[in-house]
Amino acid sequence: MMAVALLAAAVVGCTSGQDKDASKARVIVLGFDGMDYTLTKEMMADGRLPHLARLAAQGSFQPLGTSTPPQSPVAWSNFITGMDAGGHGIFDFIHRDPKTMIPYLSTSRPEPSDKKIEVGEYEFPLTADKMELLRFGTPFWEVLEKKGIPTTIMRMPANFPPSGTASRELSGMGTPDILGSYGTFSYYTSDPSAFDGKDVSGGKVYGVTASGGVVKGTLHGPKNPFLVKSQDTSTDFTVYIDAQEPVAKIVVGDEERVVKVGEWSDWVPVTLKFIPTQSVRVICRFYLREVRPVFSLYVTPLNLDPTKPAMPISTPASFAAKLASATGPFYTQGMPDDTKAFANGVFSADEFLAQAEMAQAEAARQYQYVLSRFQDGLLFYYFGHSDQVSHMMWRSMDPQHPAYKPSDARFKNVIPDLYRSLDDIVGETMEKMDPQTTLIVMSDHGFTSWRRAFHLNTWLKENGYLVVKDPNLKDDPGLFANVDWHRTRAYALGLNGLYINLRGREKWGVVDPEGRLRLMNEIIDKLTKTVDPKTGQISVSSVFRRDDYKNKGHVEIGPDLIVGYAKGTRGSNESALGKVPPEVFMDNTEEWSGDHCMDPDSVPGILVTSRPLKKPVVRLQDLAAAILAEFGVENFPPQQ
Ligand SMILES: [Zn+2]
Repeated sequence: MMAVALLAAAVVGCTSGQDKDASKARVIVLGFDGMDYTLTKEMMADGRLPHLARLAAQGSFQPLGTSTPPQSPVAWSNFITGMDAGGHGIFDFIHRDPKTMIPYLSTSRPEPSDKKIEVGEYEFPLTADKMELLRFGTPFWEVLEKKGIPTTIMRMPANFPPSGTASRELSGMGTPDILGSYGTFSYYTSDPSAFDGKDVSGGKVYGVTASGGVVKGTLHGPKNPFLVKSQDTSTDFTVYIDAQEPVAKIVVGDEERVVKVGEWSDWVPVTLKFIPTQSVRVICRFYLREVRPVFSLYVTPLNLDPTKPAMPISTPASFAAKLASATGPFYTQGMPDDTKAFANGVFSADEFLAQAEMAQAEAARQYQYVLSRFQDGLLFYYFGHSDQVSHMMWRSMDPQHPAYKPSDARFKNVIPDLYRSLDDIVGETMEKMDPQTTLIVMSDHGFTSWRRAFHLNTWLKENGYLVVKDPNLKDDPGLFANVDWHRTRAYALGLNGLYINLRGREKWGVVDPEGRLRLMNEIIDKLTKTVDPKTGQISVSSVFRRDDYKNKGHVEIGPDLIVGYAKGTRGSNESALGKVPPEVFMDNTEEWSGDHCMDPDSVPGILVTSRPLKKPVVRLQDLAAAILAEFGVENFPPQQ
């Protein structure tokens, strides 16, 4: 079959001298997370994105419909599989097990090994602990690989552990640090009082003393998996502060680095010892914030060492090490921009931007290396910087934002400048690629200002759908601790999810299956009429029923309703994790001031191509089939 097709194409090639064998096509896809259609269009029109404008003039430029809901793991899974959430089974960043009502992260899950052997105080696993990817469906590159077309898939979100089916692959968003978290920084300070009693999510603050110019600290690794009585693994470090100059020497293991205040060390390899014969390698960077009168030192999350990763992060396994030896060590954690350090006041805006820029520079350097070696098939390369910086800096373009301060005006060009740097990447690519290559620039969703937070669980309570055990509870710990399941008909989890407490499905379900649809419609009706008293505007502009997903294969995992907040409003973090705060509405006063987890119609992404594609694309989930069509492959996704 394949040979016949090749032969036919070759004959056509001879006669026309134009049409090349489609399976020999070359396609480069640049994924710019969160690049917004409206802002891109505006900047293209006034000449600020010259390369994208040139690309669009050659081919096409259009809004790209995002996923329902428009959260990155959902959106990228739509792209990867050509299906909606009903098909790939990723509906939100967090799902719940209805049998236990315990939430879990939606994209991957550790599979703990239960076969162990005990020797004295040590316990040895007989099989290696594994991570399991929870996304269903066929990644589109697998179809190409099966046809012998090589694919290079770099930092694709929601692809950890890596699929193992691309010719070359590096995992991206979803790849943890050594603690198994999405990134936990450490902050060592002689004045930890500013953080007293504060919940520093995404980081750990350690009090240290700087006596005689010497500071001792400890880097904390994961629990020692080999000890019956588990114990944290760690490595100590010492900082020697110069008596006169704002300089310090950091010593960890055999490594020494001298850094000035305001400077970053390079990546430092660190060994965490498990038992005398076992150890794990990690890498981290040190940022010396201040030495006198207060000492403070920031350390990046302990990243998997790409030269010897403790978990699989690339295909083939040696590819990550090859990248590191070609372009230097790099952030292996999926989302390197330290938004948490900024949100918690450990970084100023300038420090956050400098750190994010460093991470972006690594990715850009790696892209140049990969691009220079790209010959045939498909190259996909992902840049996440645009999403993370937009989250933190969006209000600098929105003086109406509740958290806007006059000093933010200084940052109003940060996001446009970032778009220009992405435009430069497009320009470099156009310069280096041959004219036969098709270039596709796309984003998974757009962006907008997030001014108002909506506590959906509290709305459900006020409308009689959710009942709390203690109405006067202070400091709700979340995870539904205060929810009286026996009297609750609906509850919210995740940034857009709303579930019916269904009898026979939920552990303490009370709603009969026959009443489910009626209750859902009643909630939709009330929610879409809810007006924010501060703005006088509707808070929810659309609600999607999971029954309406086109793909149904794994629809049972998802929420019954997906809430599309009106532009400017977003579900609150508190409600997302099962808290029921006192008020329904709140100003968003966080540094995290831009977002996209709203009505999908209000936040489209972009699609710019160097030539009109053979197959039309309206939404993100059409794009995989269109890319495959460039290679002469029809019928994607395959029937499940
Ligand atoms: Zn985002």
